Amino acid sequence: MKTLKLLNYAADQWVSGAGALEEVRSAVTGEVIAETGSVGLDYAAMLDHARKVGGPALRKLTFHERALMLKALANAIMAKKEELYELSYETGATRADSWIDIEGGAGTLFSFSSKGRRELPNGRVLIDGAMEPLSKNGTFVGQHVFTPLQGVAVHINAFNFPVWGMLEKLAPTLLAGVPAIVKPASQTGYLTEAAFRIMIEAGILPPGAIQLLVGIPGDLLDPLTCQDVVSFTGSAATAMKLQSHPVIGRESVRFVAERDSLNASILGPDAGPGTPEFDLFIKEVAREMTAKAGQKCTAIRRAMAPAEHLDAVQAALAERLAKVRIGDPREEGVQMGALASRAQLNAVRSAVMELSKSARIVAGDPDASPVPGDGAFISPILLRSDDPWDSAAVHDVEAFGPVSTIMPYRDLDDAIALANRGMGSLALSLFTFDKSVATDFVLGAGAYHGRMVLLDRTSAKESTGHGSPLPVLVHGGPGRAGGGEEMGGVRGVKHYMQRTALQGSPDVLSAVIGQWLPGAEKPTGAAHPFRKRISELDIGYTLKTESRTVTLEDIEHFAHFTGDTFYAHMDEEAAKANPIFDGRVAHGYLILSFAAGLFVDPAPGPVLANYGLENLRFLTPLYPGDSMRVELTVKSKSVRNEEMGEVRWAVMVFNQKDELAATYDLLTMNQP
Ligand code: NAP
Repeated sequence: MKTLKLLNYAADQWVSGAGALEEVRSAVTGEVIAETGSVGLDYAAMLDHARKVGGPALRKLTFHERALMLKALANAIMAKKEELYELSYETGATRADSWIDIEGGAGTLFSFSSKGRRELPNGRVLIDGAMEPLSKNGTFVGQHVFTPLQGVAVHINAFNFPVWGMLEKLAPTLLAGVPAIVKPASQTGYLTEAAFRIMIEAGILPPGAIQLLVGIPGDLLDPLTCQDVVSFTGSAATAMKLQSHPVIGRESVRFVAERDSLNASILGPDAGPGTPEFDLFIKEVAREMTAKAGQKCTAIRRAMAPAEHLDAVQAALAERLAKVRIGDPREEGVQMGALASRAQLNAVRSAVMELSKSARIVAGDPDASPVPGDGAFISPILLRSDDPWDSAAVHDVEAFGPVSTIMPYRDLDDAIALANRGMGSLALSLFTFDKSVATDFVLGAGAYHGRMVLLDRTSAKESTGHGSPLPVLVHGGPGRAGGGEEMGGVRGVKHYMQRTALQGSPDVLSAVIGQWLPGAEKPTGAAHPFRKRISELDIGYTLKTESRTVTLEDIEHFAHFTGDTFYAHMDEEAAKANPIFDGRVAHGYLILSFAAGLFVDPAPGPVLANYGLENLRFLTPLYPGDSMRVELTVKSKSVRNEEMGEVRWAVMVFNQKDELAATYDLLTMNQP
């Protein structure tokens, strides 16, 4: 293979690093496959370009426009995925490993794109929670909002997932409206560069939105400010070094750290040999040890079992691991490829040596080379610690390869205590068919683990497994794991935005957030709102209906018609005895139905369908003889595509004394 000369992408130009470049070798053959470096780049100019060009361009777009860009980026990656797979073999990854990296990365973009269009407004301000009333007459209220940070996200990634690692950080960043500088790990940066190039060549992003550094970023952190974010993934040692950079503390630069962790998997006390949970545990531990040759931050490093079952666990795991076919990841049938580099191989061997001071190797040989040649191959190594209570190393030393330590526990409390000895992890899995074990474990260990997978015979088949971070769930963990949190759907987007508490009149705040707030103006007009397309509907536009009386006959008719003859509607004595009512009352559902009868304009038109109610509350009962009227207000609107969009209406039902009988949000699909 021709040596690849990796380029940086700075201020919308591809540029080579100056001086001697660093050589990168294939994990499989040991041959030089790429040269990389970013010496000579003007980092301050790159930050400036992101701030002055990328940021303003992204912030001009709405969440939906940015979400559509993510989808287009994912499609561009998918269209050229075979090129990436081909290159990925050089990292030592099998096709199955690279599927997580490449298609998992594109899937993360797709997921954020879809969440962005479903859960974020088609605007530029993100509303956080409900309005807070702050004054007696309602003229002064509070509302939390998020707006995009006006700096740069510096993404520093680990070597193990060169594509996914970049995309899982870019997706929430770009959706938030923040430009990014991506710094991949040198060892596998050639794959990141290839995926980055696909995105640039697709021409989807505005200038300055993303830049790439394929070498050590030198003094990149020096000019950072409170508007920037450093999102780091890698070892605890590098994280600590970067986090203690004076600018981070001085300027309160947000620093998200995803570090290593000693993730645990626990065989429940009920899950002895012969149970489905035992077999599932063995399968999962072996799978996590060998997928990506164990180079997953979430891989199972500590496997815990009831003391009486530890021999059986050891025998079953050793048998399974012995069958794993190791070799050139391009070869058909190979299940485990190489570590990313010879340096990584040496690091794993020395970590195993450290671990073997307090645990013994019961399967695999760290010094053997299972594949001849200069590749970074190693067999899976299983260690056993019979005294995990006194060994600090088994809870502390991360061998970032196909290495796990099995250990016994005495009872559930002991298992919880041992699991927590990792002092913070990304992922924990528990195999039990006993709900009380699962409940106790979550209460005892939740605070130490970012994600917990509770597996049994009913969920295992469809489970996404112990080691897979998902775009819709948070990824990160406390303490040793770095204390960071990424993804988690819209939660991840907020890491790149500032929350601000706004205070003012409902009118002013409504205008700012693009959503009608209670107390804001409610203009009316001659046209029924159901006659207007989304583009013609103004926020706050209100229909005030006629009123109608609710009679006892209505209540009885509704009760018999629907079958809802609950005593509060049908039995005067029983209703009176109820502490809430003074006698028979109208059904809540009758009030909703009558409300629709009052506000609906029936002819075909821009309203396509009612698709739900939210935040429904019945506040004042309606008694026979009471009357009701409705105010229907356009609360917010959001166009989904050329055919339709969503209108959210604030519906208020009043009685004859102008007391609020019911309030809710009505959602309709309308023509744009
Ligand atoms: P690493 O050695 O800490 O490197 C991580 C990143 O930091 C690389 O891009 C590296 O660049 C960069 N870096 C190193 N020194 C730097 C400096 N002075 N200034 C700026 N950047 C610097 O970690 P790794 O070996 O790539 O990754 C393996 C580790 O990452 C494992 O411990 C694993 O558990 C952890 N990890 C954690 C997660 C998670 O989500 N929590 C995910 C994956 C991996 P160079 O490569 O150019 O040195």
